[in-house]
Amino acid sequence: MYQNPKNIADLEQDLLAKNINPTAMRLLVLDALKQKSEAVTFSDIEGSFEQSDRVTIYRTLKTFEQKGLIHTIVTGNVTQYALCSEDCDETKHRDTHLHFICRVCQKTICLTQFSIPEVEIPKGFHVDDVEVTIKGVCEDCFS
Ligand SMILES: [Zn+2]
Ligand SMILES: [Zn+2]
Ligand SMILES: [Zn+2]
Repeated sequence: MYQNPKNIADLEQDLLAKNINPTAMRLLVLDALKQKSEAVTFSDIEGSFEQSDRVTIYRTLKTFEQKGLIHTIVTGNVTQYALCSEDCDETKHRDTHLHFICRVCQKTICLTQFSIPEVEIPKGFHVDDVEVTIKGVCEDCFS
């Protein structure tokens, strides 16, 4: 069951740091994102609201992504959202880290300590996104 955020001042600070106007909805969505240490899906976020307005949640996530607060991890047709580091802003995302995805529970975590290696691509090609995922079984599913 969703609890009202107790740390509104902190959440407001997080939004303001990324030039995001802290509306009530944005504070709630950020709080839902911060309750988990792993990446979350749209339905995870939706599920933390008693009454959910899918369009508003969707727009809020888009704004967060544009402003460098969250990044997306796409696997197959599932999109997950994870909080960015302080280095990301509205001009550029700098999430050049690897992601680990559990094959059993689909839990996805950011491996921020590992950077995506530089890859030399063929002449004439342009890269606009790089994503490296490591797949396996997480701690919880392994035991
Ligand atoms: Zn980012
Ligand atoms: Zn797992
Ligand atoms: Zn990540």
